[in-house]
Amino acid sequence: MQKGCFLSVVVPMYNEEEVIEVTYRRLKAVLDKLGETYEIVFVNDGSRDKTSDIVRGLCAADESVKLVEFSRNFGHQIAVTAGMDHAGGRTVVLIDADLQDPPELIADMVAKWRQGYDVVYGKRIERKGESWFKKMTAAAFYRLLRSMTSVNIPVDTGDFRLMDRKVCDALTSMRERSRFIRGMVSWAGFKQTSVDYVRDERFAGETKYPLRKMVRLSLDAMTSFSTKPLKIASVLGFVLSAVGFVYLFVVLYQRLFTDTTMQGWTSMIAISLLFHGITLSLLGVLGEYIGRTYEEAKGRPLYLVSDAVNFQESRDASRE
Ligand code: UDP
Ligand code: MG
Repeated sequence: MQKGCFLSVVVPMYNEEEVIEVTYRRLKAVLDKLGETYEIVFVNDGSRDKTSDIVRGLCAADESVKLVEFSRNFGHQIAVTAGMDHAGGRTVVLIDADLQDPPELIADMVAKWRQGYDVVYGKRIERKGESWFKKMTAAAFYRLLRSMTSVNIPVDTGDFRLMDRKVCDALTSMRERSRFIRGMVSWAGFKQTSVDYVRDERFAGETKYPLRKMVRLSLDAMTSFSTKPLKIASVLGFVLSAVGFVYLFVVLYQRLFTDTTMQGWTSMIAISLLFHGITLSLLGVLGEYIGRTYEEAKGRPLYLVSDAVNFQESRDASRE
């Protein structure tokens, strides 16, 4: 941690060997133009390719480049957190390694910060080169999340943002493991503003966010920012009981005062399947919350660092 530098750029990486060097060069060009002191904190999130070797090479040649190496893959949001833990700048920028977020925008973010804003987030006005499916699910997710939480999370923003030191400190003081950083930043408050940008295609390589990880992130976001799903059970239970009650009277009336008797099997099976389905999904919802409570209760460290390069002070192998 270089205390007192002006800007720290945090870059999480998972198997990004194809993009690191270009990312480094583009970042460097932007940062040199700023004319302020800076550091680039790469976090290697357990990559299995040459990412680590490449960054170590950069570290040897340029001491403003730092590397935090994880003992295994802990996930994007945790990697970003580790970067923030190790960043010492007056301001901290979070950016993806794949150049989908243009580094050139950092200059605009710094300008906004100088105007007195504490958080400047990038707002994607267009996403290039991403599949129709990804765009649709992302758009639906942001809107659903917004409708379910009381925290005002801006739609169509990623983690690409600049934060003041005090916001970064606030975030690193929250040690919850279901992390959804853009939500946590909104929760923290402070003076926030946005800059618009067009999200480019990935410079090279594949997305490191397969559907499985997207679902996980969405569930983390939902469960850490809303308890509404838990209330679905009570509302649904109430509505269904009311319907059942009314139906009971209909059936009794038919039985007592008319000759028609209901034919049963098919409708019984249908109703039974429907209700078991609903019950099991609600148990699943409960399970999501309980599982997360259990994870938190264990109180394990968020991540383990196997090596840290170019940091002045030697640091513990792990932080809580
Ligand atoms: N990433 C990471 N750990 C993971 C998955 C992704 O550190 O387990 C990093 C990845 O290297 C990249 C950033 O998170 O810098 C965003 O990932 P990606 O570009 O694959 O996501 P997408 O833009 O497709 O949503
Ligand atoms: Mg990307």
